[in-house]
Amino acid sequence: MTESDLAPARLVPGETVARRFFRRAFARFIAFAVLLTLILVGETLWLARENLKGELAIYQRTFEKALASALWSMDREKIESLANGIIEIPDIKAVRIYDPVDGRLIIQAGMPPKAGDNTRAALLHRFDVVQDEGFGREVVGVAEFHSSFGQVMHRTQGQVVLIVVLATLKTLAFWWIFLAVGRRVLGGPLTEMTRSISGSSSAQPLTLSPDTEKAIDGTELALLRGAYDEMVERIRSAQSELEQMNQELEQRVRERTRELREANLKLERLAHTDSLTGLANRRQFIALAQTEIARARRSGRPVSLVVCDIDLFKQINDGFGHATGDKAIRHVAERLVETVRMVDMVARFGGDEFVVLLPDLRQEEARLVAERLRECLVSNPLVLEDGQPVPITLSLGVATLQEGDKGLEDLFHRADIGLYEAKGSGRNRVIDQSQSSCRG
Ligand code: GH3
Ligand code: MG
Repeated sequence: MTESDLAPARLVPGETVARRFFRRAFARFIAFAVLLTLILVGETLWLARENLKGELAIYQRTFEKALASALWSMDREKIESLANGIIEIPDIKAVRIYDPVDGRLIIQAGMPPKAGDNTRAALLHRFDVVQDEGFGREVVGVAEFHSSFGQVMHRTQGQVVLIVVLATLKTLAFWWIFLAVGRRVLGGPLTEMTRSISGSSSAQPLTLSPDTEKAIDGTELALLRGAYDEMVERIRSAQSELEQMNQELEQRVRERTRELREANLKLERLAHTDSLTGLANRRQFIALAQTEIARARRSGRPVSLVVCDIDLFKQINDGFGHATGDKAIRHVAERLVETVRMVDMVARFGGDEFVVLLPDLRQEEARLVAERLRECLVSNPLVLEDGQPVPITLSLGVATLQEGDKGLEDLFHRADIGLYEAKGSGRNRVIDQSQSSCRG
């Protein structure tokens, strides 16, 4: 398809289907009407001419005897007066009388029309003037009565004018009727349909006035309108299907986005959380502890760290089973969380090892907290479903951030030494950095 195929059709100003149809039909009608009128006028003139010729023959019978007598006696005065009398008749324009023997013109009255010799064209009636003397008939002259086409015109002018006027009126009436009816049954409905189509921005069925509905009823225009409405219906149902599909798609996208977001949150939680205890994992703890240490450095406030490890955990696992071992880990986590403050950070560092970051606490305070933790475990053993207690003790190392510390690593290192020493010196105890052999 080329670009010109897609160009919108443009209306030539003042041009309509009805007008074009009318122009073409009317041009043919006018030609036909003019031809018919000419035939009618021609026939009228021909009839009038025939009548006139008949009347000239009647004049022959009227004057023949008197003329024969005057010519027989060659009474020139009488011939002249007869000829002058004859041309007094309006239909006769000229009279000529010839000698039958040598064709000599005896008399002429009036002026014959130009085409005098042509009897057909000139309306000429020629006859022999015959004198009947009882003993025989003798031609005493040849007479010509000349009339003219002007006379025919004169006689028929009223009729011709009437024919032309009636033909004109007929044509005008036809023109007006044709235009009015054409507009009503074709041009008007088409214009209204076009306006209805181009006036609405969305696909709408055609709305036509009752008059137009009536005018197009049962015609191709009604079919066209029906086809258009059907097409609009199809477009609308396709649009609503599309809309529904869009909504379904949007709903599905929303659901998928929500699922994805939830999965991301879960992943994020998983990445930061220990799945067994729900505590922060090593990664999360390191990130949060580094932030807290940086903040403590800026504000000059203390921050301490407790590292704890379940004593002889392997024995719990071996003695009670791995599931009970898990329960023991969860039990320790819960006791740690409920013993420390909201601002303190408890994390499972791995295996049976836990860490607690204590903002704003100096070494001594931190040691007391660690002691509380240890005691809490001693006084709250894990009790199994069958009522059997599982004693759990912790060894803990405590360290506080010092001036020369580079960061969490140093703090951790010292606390770890404390823990190591606690383990070495019999377990179930707290060793802080002031007691540990490696003093900062
Ligand atoms: P110590 O007093 O010296 O710490 O002795 P211990 O037996 O506790 O020794 P250690 O801390 O090295 O042992 C940790 C054990 O914890 C080893 C491992 O099998 C067990 N463990 C680590 N993670 C889990 C866990 O998630 N569940 C269970 N049930 N056991 C675990
Ligand atoms: Mg252990």
